[in-house]
Amino acid sequence: MSQDTYPRELEPNPSIGELQRIVTGLRHYLEDERRRGLKGWPRTKTSPAALPSLLAQPGPQSPFTLDAVRTELGDCRRCKLHRHRQQIVFGTGNPQAKLVFVGEGPGRDEDLQGEPFVGLAGQLLTKIIQAIHLRREEVYITNIIKCRPPENRNPQPDEIAACEPFLIKQLAAIRPKLICALGTFAAQTLLKTEEKISSLRGHFHPYQGILLMPTYHPAFLLRNPGSKKDVWEDMKKIRREYDRL
Ligand code: SF4
Repeated sequence: MSQDTYPRELEPNPSIGELQRIVTGLRHYLEDERRRGLKGWPRTKTSPAALPSLLAQPGPQSPFTLDAVRTELGDCRRCKLHRHRQQIVFGTGNPQAKLVFVGEGPGRDEDLQGEPFVGLAGQLLTKIIQAIHLRREEVYITNIIKCRPPENRNPQPDEIAACEPFLIKQLAAIRPKLICALGTFAAQTLLKTEEKISSLRGHFHPYQGILLMPTYHPAFLLRNPGSKKDVWEDMKKIRREYDRL
């Protein structure tokens, strides 16, 4: 068990955990009110860096469900990416997945279909998942941002700041044991680092009590098939850890 995960059986007083959940729920309620224009509430910005603490809340029950997170996201216009999207691409798969794949953002096919990783890169991801004897339905697949950036450019800091809290809430709802970060952008955003994917990949990194394996993005593999062997090594490590759970 990770040091970041507080075991329920060691919790000194169960009422403290309950209190934490109430305080967290109250905080989110007040933040929603503030977004709706409540006057007089302090304009303190919710730091995405603080949100991962949601993932370390004690107890087996998450204070979130994926449906509730999707409802909260609504017809989101929190950043400028809403202007050109066809659909929000929230995520798909098992709501209790032990393994979550996180990519960068939707591309053209995903924007049209409303589902992550359905284009050529998505087909390759499906094969990668099958290669470790899992099905897409057994894992959960999502992205850092939920709307397609114009011309598939990299997401910008204000867009990440607006959207990443919803990824963190998705993870808090699912409570996976393993995350596979697909590509430079996902790995650097989650790990808050500027290290290259070539040095990040190949080993697990701690992420709020979850083991995170960065690896190359399937779109990169389509252009650089020689790197498939590296991804295979990473996936074998994920499978070994998956089997230990
Ligand atoms: S990218 Fe995220 S924050 Fe921006 S509009 Fe889409 S759902 Fe909202």
